[in-house]
Amino acid sequence: MPVRTAPQARESFEQLARYEPPDAGLRTAIRLDANEASEGPMPAARSALARSLRLVNRYPLGDGDLIDRLAYRHGVAAEMVALGNGIDGIIGYLSDAYLDPGDEVVTGWPSFPTYVTEARKRGATVRLAPLRNGAVDTGEIAERIGPRTKLVWVCTPNNPTGGPLAREALGELLDATPANILVIIDEAYFEYGGGPQHIDAIREFVLGRPNVAAVRTFSKIYGLAALRVGYLVGPAPVAIAAGKARRYYDVTELGNIAALASLDEADELQQRRLANERARERLRTGLEGLGLGVLHSQANFMAVGVGDADAVAARLLAQRVATRSLSGVGAPELLRIAVGTPAEIDRLLALLPDALAPGGRGA
Ligand SMILES: *Cc1c(COP(=O)(O)O)cnc(C)c1O
Repeated sequence: MPVRTAPQARESFEQLARYEPPDAGLRTAIRLDANEASEGPMPAARSALARSLRLVNRYPLGDGDLIDRLAYRHGVAAEMVALGNGIDGIIGYLSDAYLDPGDEVVTGWPSFPTYVTEARKRGATVRLAPLRNGAVDTGEIAERIGPRTKLVWVCTPNNPTGGPLAREALGELLDATPANILVIIDEAYFEYGGGPQHIDAIREFVLGRPNVAAVRTFSKIYGLAALRVGYLVGPAPVAIAAGKARRYYDVTELGNIAALASLDEADELQQRRLANERARERLRTGLEGLGLGVLHSQANFMAVGVGDADAVAARLLAQRVATRSLSGVGAPELLRIAVGTPAEIDRLLALLPDALAPGGRGA
């Protein structure tokens, strides 16, 4: 007699949460919750997309063009570049390629949650290293690296706190990490940074090291989050492993075409970077004017201490302004706010006093 029992997903799936579709009603809200570019796609990407709609009956052909262009841009061989269904996809590829059950992954925390969920899917254990002033603390990371460590995720500037890593600290961590451990530097917000302290991990740390890769995305400053294009630059064996783990058509043709066109928009990129810097300063000044403590940010968002972030986010949302409480990543007092446009910032700042202390004003 066969045992009557239901199909069981892998044991490691028990601790995972199902993807919950977001509330589509957010489309009409002011969106400061997901660190997207408020400007939308770049002009060249918009026209390329409009011209290319007819192609969507065909499977993608454009991956090679985008890989070649990225390799040229970064001065590396094409075999050192891999594309993915966003950085999110690439995190999954590397987890597939490098993790066996029982292996260990190290990341700063709070940081990007996909590092954790993709490791757990494969039965790996994640060791969380506390941050220092909203940036990854390389000493805390190094302390958690052990004989079972396979992957180390280093996010700079760190999402959700915004702090950048110092060049010397990153160099020391990489020098001290055994060469059999893959360190991936997540530079999702690379294009928002500037100045002499700003790290270009591909140029400074990936080239010449056998165990260091960097990932970047078209989802943030390039304004293509819905098209899902990210890329890795790393040692050829790492990029090849990522290329084996991906699905054939993970990068859509519209994604390829829009990403390629966006790379021609150097002036627009620079304008967006400067606009973000100005707006971030406006947001920081406004928050500090309300007596709030703000973490230093080099990205297009910042984290601010508000007491009960879930409650404050809910009150702002009731006024159609979406922000992100960090309670889900272990920081229930922090609210993450994307920089947005000056008008969006002013609306947020006008609503905040009441969201912080409902009924408190004039009482
Ligand atoms: C937004 C973000 C990503 C995800 O990028 P996609 O390319 O859209 O998947 C990855 N890492 C960090 C740190 C991010 O903030």
